[in-house]
Amino acid sequence: MLALVHARLWDGTGADVQPDVDLLIDEGRIVAIGSSLPVPEGTETLDLAGATVLPGLIDAHVHVASEPGQTHRNPTPEHHAELVAAHLRAYVACGVTTVLDTGILPDDLATVRALEAQDAVMPRFLTLGTLLAPEGGYPANVIPAFPTVGTPEEVSRALDLLVDQNAVGVKTTVEQGLFGHGWPLYTPEVAAAIREGAAERGLRIFTHAMSVDEQDEALDLLAPAVFVHPPDRPNGRLRERLVAAGVAEISTLTVVDEMRGAWERERFTDPLTRLVVPEEQLATALDRDARKAFLHGMLEVALPAMPAKGLVGSMVARESTVRGRLRRQGAALRDLADAGVPIVLGSDSGSWPLIPYAVHGPTTLRELGLLVDAGFSPEEALTAGTRTAAEVLGLDDVGTVEVGNVADLVIVDGDPLQDVGVLWHATWVVRGGEVRTPEGWASSEPGLRR
Ligand SMILES: [Zn+2]
Repeated sequence: MLALVHARLWDGTGADVQPDVDLLIDEGRIVAIGSSLPVPEGTETLDLAGATVLPGLIDAHVHVASEPGQTHRNPTPEHHAELVAAHLRAYVACGVTTVLDTGILPDDLATVRALEAQDAVMPRFLTLGTLLAPEGGYPANVIPAFPTVGTPEEVSRALDLLVDQNAVGVKTTVEQGLFGHGWPLYTPEVAAAIREGAAERGLRIFTHAMSVDEQDEALDLLAPAVFVHPPDRPNGRLRERLVAAGVAEISTLTVVDEMRGAWERERFTDPLTRLVVPEEQLATALDRDARKAFLHGMLEVALPAMPAKGLVGSMVARESTVRGRLRRQGAALRDLADAGVPIVLGSDSGSWPLIPYAVHGPTTLRELGLLVDAGFSPEEALTAGTRTAAEVLGLDDVGTVEVGNVADLVIVDGDPLQDVGVLWHATWVVRGGEVRTPEGWASSEPGLRR
């Protein structure tokens, strides 16, 4: 048993912060919450006077097997598997105790499942398994390892694979291209096969669609439960459709913000990032040649037919342009939230292997800060990354600090409801009742299991 005593508690339920609370944890679960609880003799006790306890974070959009900047290196399969394990440890060290992986290849999923079976340090791991790309379309056209579906029979086989993979849903895409240049989408026949086949198998549909047109099209053809990215400029009609259908949006402000990694070198030198991110990924993130190759590669994907990319490239990649896009995307999320669309924290960490900047772990904390920058209160941002995320993912024993729930907790000095930045300096992270410092989780040394 473990006792956490004299803590401030933000429990994520919507209740006010409680000033002096004790929590008892046994066999990985929270068994009692109250003030001045009797603590059984001999119980390991942490006195948390001055500290705040909050639920462990949930990041609902990650790609744990994607190595940031991998295309700038050449890892062996064995080393790649070690890095996947390091990514998972990084999440826990950063207080992210549950993740949803929104697209992973079968071999990589086998690596993660093997780690799970070994009781390795990792967040609770949910996955959408191997996604269903349209024939010739996204993301298989950018990351060719991903398979495609072109017929109802192929859809059926792909959905059966997801059931075997124990996926919590099916990832679909409606993506016409970064600057709208006609990437192929599902045929109506394939879309119908996905919709019906997913319903038969009890798989919820998660859709990548980033413009208003694409989200409209997805709502028409696929009836998704969740969009894994928000639309860039939502209009009133789309907002109404989302609210009426109860569709949630995952925040992913990182998708715009990560470009700034090309300029903000200090992102890769702060203590937490240096602690949890593999050395070679930090080196790539700080490497000027890799930066050039990244910008060039992005333009190749975005504008394959354009001959003189230099001028466009210098405009698209300018920091002020990125900042403007980020402001617009933040305002869009705020609009959606105000209309009553559930907003879930998700960072798209790992992203494309071409991009060196969305490193696993710290990027989730950055996403939390980006929500605050977008006009969410710290409490709203934390709720997006705890209770709302759990609700949207159908999890009933994480996301809040309540008796009976899994003891997944973050413990910080200072007040996260004033400044979510305090999560960059957590004193302890509790995962499944086991308490360690961020250093302890990152190092893969055994900790105290209660
Ligand atoms: Zn993604």
